[in-house]
Amino acid sequence: MSIIIQKYGGTSVGSIERMRHVAELVISEKKQGNQVVVVVSAMVGVTNALAKQASEFHPTHNSMARDFVISSGENISSGLLALAIQERGVEGVPLSGWQVPIITTPIHGKASIQQTDPVRLSMLLAQGSIPVISGFQGVSEAGMITTLGRGGSDTSAVALAAALNAERCDIYTDIDGVYTADPRLVSEAKLIQNLSYDFAILMAHQGAKVVHPAAMEMAKSARVPIRVLSSFGSDCFTSIGAADDFDVCAVSHIENLAVFSTQVNNGFSEALETIKRNNVVVDVIDLKADRVVGCVLEEDIAFVSEELNARKIFPKWQKAAKVSWVDSGAESRAQRILNLISDGDFPILNLWKCPGRVSATIPRDHLRSFVSYLHQYIF
Ligand code: ASP
Ligand code: MG
Repeated sequence: MSIIIQKYGGTSVGSIERMRHVAELVISEKKQGNQVVVVVSAMVGVTNALAKQASEFHPTHNSMARDFVISSGENISSGLLALAIQERGVEGVPLSGWQVPIITTPIHGKASIQQTDPVRLSMLLAQGSIPVISGFQGVSEAGMITTLGRGGSDTSAVALAAALNAERCDIYTDIDGVYTADPRLVSEAKLIQNLSYDFAILMAHQGAKVVHPAAMEMAKSARVPIRVLSSFGSDCFTSIGAADDFDVCAVSHIENLAVFSTQVNNGFSEALETIKRNNVVVDVIDLKADRVVGCVLEEDIAFVSEELNARKIFPKWQKAAKVSWVDSGAESRAQRILNLISDGDFPILNLWKCPGRVSATIPRDHLRSFVSYLHQYIF
């Protein structure tokens, strides 16, 4: 019997009605003769609401108590979905990350999975049950609840697929696959049917939201075949696996960035070290002797500011987005795109080229038009 991991995102389990629909999908996979393990995200909006409540208190940055709060949305989802499965006469068993257990590093808010124990899940599967696991969370060696960073349920799903030697990990979302650009921004975007791990990793790191970057990297190293599909009904999907790279390009973007620029002193590198130790990424885009331009995720502004301010560095912040042309093809094409961007009319903050991509940061209100502008060069 094959084991299939199914992961459902926040919109897929966004209401009781959606939960009932997902329960049907889960059970129909089981009826095809497979053993199914389900991983769920919090219902749409719930993690944001919990994070907002936690942020009413100081200090809040990625603490153990904050993780305890923001991980709880997933427990509601796994409990409710287990009930929906039971309503259909199958034994759905809800489990938190610590009950599996999924052991992580102790970096609260951005923990990494170290080990996933398959024993309990194998026992449940052998009994014919369907384990429904809270994604996004784990437990540190010290027994504290941790979270894996926003979007981390994908990583939980892939880690379970690797630990159980699953045949496949299906990531159910509200879009039926990976597109050449976010179809919510570009209506002409095309579905990509097959992606290599490497290209999917590149896209994920540049913000293609369908699968979390850490999940893609883990899928590659454990050779877990992935499918990205919609729980809202569609015959299309994207397969991600050990395919050969072929000629493909896409426009990916990260919307919730903040660009900062500031005078720096010699406390800057020490601040960067501390920030990095907390798994917070600062992309330094431009570094002169005494001035730096960099960008961080909006959710990390408070922490980064605190570290910089403590060293008498007071950056100016601007809401921004990063748009990347991701390309498996020839360097000459990337060079052409670079020229097209420089010649265009957009208020580009920074523009740079690295192997496999060209990236630009722009003020956020230009995001939609800039993504569409670039996407028209795909065909
Ligand atoms: N619920 C978490 C978040 O909103 C994790 C996830 O959905 O993957 O980031
Ligand atoms: Mg997600």
